[in-house]
Amino acid sequence: MTSSTKIKSYDLDYIWHPFTQMKEYLKEDPLVIEDSDGVYLIDSDGNRYIDGVSSLWVNIHGHKVSKINKAIKNQVDKIAHSTLLGVTNPSASLLAKKLIDISPAGLKKVFYSGDGASAVEVALKMAFQYWLIKGKKRKNNFVCLKDGYHGDTLGAVSVGGIDVFHSTFKPLLFKSYKIPSYDSSDNTIARLESILIKKADTIAALIMEPYVQAAGGIKVATKGYLKKIQKLCKKFDVLLILDEVATGFGRTGEMFACDHDNVTPDILVLGKGLTGGYLPLSATITTNDIFETFLGEHEELKAFFHGHSYSGNPLACSAAIANLEIFEEEQTIKKAKKVIEIFEEELKEFSGLEHVSSVRNKGLMAGIDLKKNVKKNINYKYNERIGKKVCDIAKKDGVLIRPLGDTIVIMPPVSIKQKELKKLTRTIYKSIKVATENES
Ligand code: PMP
Repeated sequence: MTSSTKIKSYDLDYIWHPFTQMKEYLKEDPLVIEDSDGVYLIDSDGNRYIDGVSSLWVNIHGHKVSKINKAIKNQVDKIAHSTLLGVTNPSASLLAKKLIDISPAGLKKVFYSGDGASAVEVALKMAFQYWLIKGKKRKNNFVCLKDGYHGDTLGAVSVGGIDVFHSTFKPLLFKSYKIPSYDSSDNTIARLESILIKKADTIAALIMEPYVQAAGGIKVATKGYLKKIQKLCKKFDVLLILDEVATGFGRTGEMFACDHDNVTPDILVLGKGLTGGYLPLSATITTNDIFETFLGEHEELKAFFHGHSYSGNPLACSAAIANLEIFEEEQTIKKAKKVIEIFEEELKEFSGLEHVSSVRNKGLMAGIDLKKNVKKNINYKYNERIGKKVCDIAKKDGVLIRPLGDTIVIMPPVSIKQKELKKLTRTIYKSIKVATENES
């Protein structure tokens, strides 16, 4: 067996892939990504693909970034891991200071975990225990948004709002109040207010993705919307948790999506792009008010009894420090703003396609909805797999993307160059055209 054939056969024999119908996968020839070059992924046959969804929304400065590579190599020569339970390490400490410097004013303490879902669990438990310590024992519910997504652990699923992913697990979940997604913002605000008027004394926090509901289909909020939510949370003494796992680190054109509206949440959740897309690391960042509430004598049992084996892992933290230094040195956000202008010009073209019903973006996060008949508002059937068809065609033309149902997602690395971006959008445009030909 050649090594590539061996890798494919071991994959098919032994790996259960996430979010994948394995019956279908097992019939396919697996794509093996084994090398990279900037925004390009390279497969085992040497084919190059633009990483059109940033390797599932994590990559920021492209792949094989020498500064991040070096940071990890330097760190591994010293120590790969030591625990953060009761001791510290230089990378975790230096990164925490950097995170506080770039976080919205008022956020002061960093709690590390490994992935986005874990950081969401931390936020939920922290909010619950905060009120418990304050003697507000009844505040043990959460408000969340329809079409929201916060990860796949049970707490995160309990505050999720995507039926196709979440409804199976309903018997295992705690109850939450769901308000409409923010694509009908006045509705959301009115519904939220009515819940808070009646139930605020039983609600610990509201959790939401600010500005873009990513997994929910790249739904985009309007400016000022977040401010209205924050105002209501403050008025009714409900904590605001903003999940920026997907929107953080420049993806929307500001460092964090909440920066567009100058909103400081009580708890900010970060993941994915924190290490530039190199290593698993997440952070739950909060205020002194919340942190100090947990201070007490040993026997008062106010400590936050939560942690992970790899919390504050030095390798991941050193990658994250290098990631943030590149943001400063390369003026990544400033450059991204220019690229976003080009992106928006390119996206306008898609509205002219016969089977495109909606095109939305916030910064470098875009969603393009496909319909069988736009005028008559007829959707493709579930088993027509139009999103997958488009992605399969794009793959043959050197672009790797993954759809959300009938929504084509484009989310390139934040540092993508204009020329690469145009190649990406034009290939996708062509792929949609080809995939939807002969439809009416
Ligand atoms: N929150 C949001 C907004 C996300 O988009 C995701 C992942 N797509 C998560 C949380 C979960 O992150 P992870 O996959 O790292 O657990």
